[in-house]
Amino acid sequence: MKSITPRQLFVKSCDFVGGSGDPSVLKLPDLPEIAFVGRSNVGKSSLINALFNRKNLARTSRTPGRTQEINFFNLGGLALFVDLPGYGFASVPIKLKHAWQKDMTTYVTTRRGMRMLFVLVDARHGLKPIDFDLFNILHASATPFQVVLTKTDKISSDEVESRQLETQKSVEDHFTCAPEVLAVSAVKKTGLSALQMRIFHLVFPDLMIK
Ligand code: GDP
Repeated sequence: MKSITPRQLFVKSCDFVGGSGDPSVLKLPDLPEIAFVGRSNVGKSSLINALFNRKNLARTSRTPGRTQEINFFNLGGLALFVDLPGYGFASVPIKLKHAWQKDMTTYVTTRRGMRMLFVLVDARHGLKPIDFDLFNILHASATPFQVVLTKTDKISSDEVESRQLETQKSVEDHFTCAPEVLAVSAVKKTGLSALQMRIFHLVFPDLMIK
C-alpha cells in the first residue's frame, strides 16, 4: 500500500455501510475496525463528526427506549469505524437494557477485526457504575478498550488532569484497558489530533510516519 499520513486518512470518504443490532446479518468488509461507545449524551456523535470532519456522519438518536442499531462506516476502504448505541438512558425498560448488553456481547465476541473500543466518558462526571458493567463485558471478552474523556471545555484544565488520573486508577485492574486516558473537546477541537494519531496507529500498526 502507498504511504498515507494521519491527515489523509481522516479526509477519506466515509460511507455508511449498514446498521443492525446483529452485525452478522450485514455484509461487512474485512478491515481493521475502530468502535466508539458511551453513555447517552456523552458527546459521541459530536466527537465522531469532529474526528472525521463531517457535519452529520453520526446520527444522534434521541429516543430512549428504542432498540438502537450498531452503525458501520467504511473509511476510504481502509478501516471500518463503528458507532455503537449509547447506554444509560434514565428511563429504559429492563428488557432493552438486556438487549443492549446482549448486542454488545455479540459485537465484541464476533468482530475479529476490532482493534479498539473507545469508551467515552463525560469529563465532568467521570466513571459511573454503568460504565463498569460495560468494562466487565469487555474484560470477560478480552476486548481492548481505551477511555476518552469528553466535553473537557466544560471544566478547568486542572480538573481535567485530576479526572484523567482518577480514571486511570479506576481502570488499572482491567487488563485490556489502555493505561492512557485521553481527553477531548469536540467544541474546542482539543485532543482530536492525539486521538486521530492513536486511531491511525491502530489501523496501520506497521506504518512509520515520516
Ligand atoms: P451523544 O448522545 O453521545 O451522541 O451526544 P451528542 O454528540 O449528541 O452531544 C450531547 C450534547 O452535548 C449536545 O448538546 C452537544 O452539543 C453537547 N456536546 C457534545 N460534545 C461537546 C463538547 O465537546 N463540549 C461541549 N461543551 N458540549 C458538547
